[in-house]
Amino acid sequence: MMLSKSLQRKKIIIAGLDSKLVIAIEAMLLRKGFSNLSFANECADIYRIIRPFAENSVDLGLVIVDEFLPGGDVGHMCTSLSRENNGIALPFIILKAESSDQLNDSIQSSGDLIYDLYASFREAELLILVELLLVLKNERYLRNQQQEKLISELATRKLLDAKLKYLIAHDELTGLMNRANLEQHIRLSLMRFKALHQNGALLLIDLDRFGLINDLEGFDVADRLIIEVVALIRKTLTRDVFFARIDSDEFCLYFENVSLTQAKESAEAIRKSLDECRFTTGDVCYNITASIGIAALPTQKVIVHPEELISKAHQACYLAKQNGRNMVWIYNEDDKAIKERHRDVFWVPLIREALVDKNFFLVFQPVINLKSGIVSHYEVLIRMRGQADSVIHPIEFIPVAERMGLIHCIDIWVVENAIDFLAALPVEMSDVCLAINLSGFAFQDGSLLPTLKRKLDLSWVNADRITFEITETAAVDNFDQTRQMINKIRALGCHFALDDFGAGFCSFNYLKKFPVDYVKIDGQFIRNLVNDETDQVLVKSMADVARKLGKKTVAEFIEVPQVIPILVSLGIEYGQGYLFGKPCRELIDGGRVPLAHFSNESETKSHFSYNRLD
Ligand code: C2E
Ligand code: MG
Ligand code: MG
Repeated sequence: MMLSKSLQRKKIIIAGLDSKLVIAIEAMLLRKGFSNLSFANECADIYRIIRPFAENSVDLGLVIVDEFLPGGDVGHMCTSLSRENNGIALPFIILKAESSDQLNDSIQSSGDLIYDLYASFREAELLILVELLLVLKNERYLRNQQQEKLISELATRKLLDAKLKYLIAHDELTGLMNRANLEQHIRLSLMRFKALHQNGALLLIDLDRFGLINDLEGFDVADRLIIEVVALIRKTLTRDVFFARIDSDEFCLYFENVSLTQAKESAEAIRKSLDECRFTTGDVCYNITASIGIAALPTQKVIVHPEELISKAHQACYLAKQNGRNMVWIYNEDDKAIKERHRDVFWVPLIREALVDKNFFLVFQPVINLKSGIVSHYEVLIRMRGQADSVIHPIEFIPVAERMGLIHCIDIWVVENAIDFLAALPVEMSDVCLAINLSGFAFQDGSLLPTLKRKLDLSWVNADRITFEITETAAVDNFDQTRQMINKIRALGCHFALDDFGAGFCSFNYLKKFPVDYVKIDGQFIRNLVNDETDQVLVKSMADVARKLGKKTVAEFIEVPQVIPILVSLGIEYGQGYLFGKPCRELIDGGRVPLAHFSNESETKSHFSYNRLD
């Protein structure tokens, strides 16, 4: 057998033999290439020599020992050191006198690496045994190593499995349940509710303005806040509850078998406790508040999926926020605000799709010079394509778009498309002017002005062909910013009109604050003008004020011809309404109006003739 160099370097201990035999064995081993030999006179020497190998016995070879080694029981020592489970598995060759017996049964059957040899052995016998035992020991060592590795891998995997199971069900930061786990519990509860008619209530807690703290103070501080909030909520709880964190600053508490009143009490206690808490970081102190939505079982509609209950609590929470934050709101299908919210949820994807899929289009309604009957300009109005070629009017989606922050995209879309429309008109129509409606939100975002400039530059459309109609709205809450923006857009050459004048409470205030060129008197004052003297007085006063301030006036909702002479006598210059033409995809003129209604009959206009808006 050819042993590898590494096996030849293993430690071989020769113990307790008489000196002649020691010399002979040493010579045999050296000749065979074994170089790492040690000598022992008694049992204790063997223990001393092998002690350094206790941690790692790879370099330990074997022991050749006399059966009568002084200082201990050789049989006992051999069995204990050659065992595998003590990690050493040291092989022994016990040299015996001819007269000695075979190894006793317990040693032989142990399966350990213990062999005996008569002292009259032949050199080859000893060397073969030495080599065999070294190979066996090495194999056992390697096998042990692999087993240990396997055990440690298994242990790590078990640990990971446990961690994974925990993570799948819990939020790492707070240790609370996560959304999936909560949904699982609610699912079971819904089944019980069906079978046993048990009540239940879900509270959805959303911290107010958490994003601000996150942005200003960073994630670490925000995480600390979350942990403190969880501790505070826990303190208020007096009954069993499933407590989950379902988003960065959103928590859910699911109570089984509680009445709505009890759920509301719990929610109020949480709201109050958070409101009273002050969160300090560095030298800054934050007042933490939360908006809480409650959805309780049973609901008007049967709830099958946990997400439905969570969604209802979400909607209630949204309304708590809308209504001023730091409050509790209970979900109720008949709630007007909930219905509005349903509408919003329905419309938002449709509006987004319409912006991308070109489902919006523009219609144009003529505005007529009431003295001449000539079309002065056209108001641009937006429409959405509905199903089966139906047309959806802006009243359906503009208020939603305003609530849901989509109106700005619509405003920009209309501005771009209206200018494209003008740019595409034939040369003989290059005097056509348009009035474009803008929402109050258009001025809150800086992108309107650059978009308008770029569009006008690229299209070569003259800016004075465009008038922007603005309405009195809560959105125009920053008068200074709005006025500055209006001035910048006017500096480009565009005009402004104050739309729906008289319909709100602050119309005169708007007139005072904003540099507009036109005042559009709201249709509600015009519709019954012929028969309603109050309307006549009001329209006259509005027209007088506008004229004194140097503004031109437009009357909306002209539906009958009899109203025209009255408007003219009250000093109104322009008119718009179904009488002259409904909003239409093509440009129509006012030629259909019987000329007798206009004061200056000589200025009859032919089809498609226009006056510049001046
Ligand atoms: P508005 O700017 O006051 O537009 C006038 C509305 O009155 C239009 O309704 C028009 O079709 C309607 N109308 C015109 N003449 C008559 C008439 O003789 N009788 C009656 N009953 N109605 C008449 P529309 O197009 O449904 O628009 C409603 C409102 O939606 C607009 O009021 C405006 O505030 C908003 N809107 C329309 N288009 C846009 C747009 O492109 N952008 C923005 N931001 N808002 C728009
Ligand atoms: Mg308008
Ligand atoms: Mg109007």
